[in-house]
Amino acid sequence: MAIRAKPGEVARRKDVCRSCPNAERAGKKQILVRCRKCGCPIAFLTAFQGAKCPAGHW
Ligand code: SF4
Repeated sequence: MAIRAKPGEVARRKDVCRSCPNAERAGKKQILVRCRKCGCPIAFLTAFQGAKCPAGHW
């Protein structure tokens, strides 16, 4: 059983997070850091196959 989501799916999720007002950003490059809705690091949230966006966006 795969634990990590497929690369295409991770990219799709990150694209959605990039345009989401709940995404907390940091630094000059405004890197996605954390989801304000659930408090999870976006890098982890988007990488795990079984994870779901807490706002139902993906
Ligand atoms: S996980 Fe959902 S609510 Fe959180 S930043 Fe991404 S799209 Fe927004």
